[in-house]
Amino acid sequence: MLADSYGRVATDLRVSLTDRCNLRCSYCMPPEGLEWLPGADQLTDDELIRLLRVAVERLGISEIRFTGGEPILRRGLAGIVARTAALRPRPEISMTTNGIGLARLARPLHEAGLDRINVSLDTLDAETFVKLARRDRLADVLAGLAAAASTGLAPVKVNAVLMRDINDHEAADLLQYCIDYGYQMRFIEQMPLDAQHGWRRENMVTADEILLALSVKFALIPKDPGARGSAPAETFLIDGGPAKVGVIGSVTRPFCGACDRVRLTADGQVRNCLFAREESDLRTPLRAGASDDDLAERWRQAVASKLPGHGINDPGFLQPARPMSAIGG
Ligand code: SAM
Repeated sequence: MLADSYGRVATDLRVSLTDRCNLRCSYCMPPEGLEWLPGADQLTDDELIRLLRVAVERLGISEIRFTGGEPILRRGLAGIVARTAALRPRPEISMTTNGIGLARLARPLHEAGLDRINVSLDTLDAETFVKLARRDRLADVLAGLAAAASTGLAPVKVNAVLMRDINDHEAADLLQYCIDYGYQMRFIEQMPLDAQHGWRRENMVTADEILLALSVKFALIPKDPGARGSAPAETFLIDGGPAKVGVIGSVTRPFCGACDRVRLTADGQVRNCLFAREESDLRTPLRAGASDDDLAERWRQAVASKLPGHGINDPGFLQPARPMSAIGG
């Protein structure tokens, strides 16, 4: 079990498969100049599966989410998913992706064992997409979403980050699009995790603002607030349901007290929080011949020292050295 000293137990593992991405979303990365992890530092497929096996068999991990960077850029992704699905007890397997390439890969990934998917989509306007992501790929993302839905990956969730004066006017349109296509929309507050440290509290679009923008067009009723559990999103029924929308207020409505997540970076470092300033190295002992027992114990210790909260709202808050793209969102 991965327990910390505040009574939380981590069962949900977020695995970054690569720090590379084919978009350059302004809230995540600079236009250019970000250095990638050297290939030799990255866990091989066998090393990764070994750590996943330790996590599932010995540490109680029951959900594994592949992310990045862009996980679809990882060579052999379907094989990694298949090997993860062969672990026992079989974990729930999901992926967060920008959707580029999913039109081709949705079916093989689903067949390999992928259960659920989250696709990031911040705008429905091709020009705004280029402004935000610095690449002209909106059509690929929409095609990827459609492929995911037709393949039977369910529910298909859509993540959006709203940026002031860029796409914040699109909140209701994005939600309507998702309702029309049967996707579950979730809005995420912008967090201080961009590589270029450009986040400013006064610029971020807050959960309150998002809800206000949506309420102009939709009647939103909180859905079972008592049953939220460890879910990062506050869920609202739209116009009486069944359609729903999530708002992830990581900054203004933190949910650290119920956090059940732990992260593994592409280079084999355990992070007990997105905002952790320290990591625990599993790659070095793994490559030095550590036993499963030893790796499991190191992982337990890494989670045991988890802080009570992410600290974004503390006066002395400092962004972690690694950006979101390298941690795995
Ligand atoms: N490339 C994949 C994708 O686009 O979904 C997976 C990695 S990305 C880092 C995961 C999620 O984090 C995306 O939904 C993205 O919008 C979100 N994200 C990235 N930087 C963020 C930030 N500074 N604040 C809030 N969300 C962020």
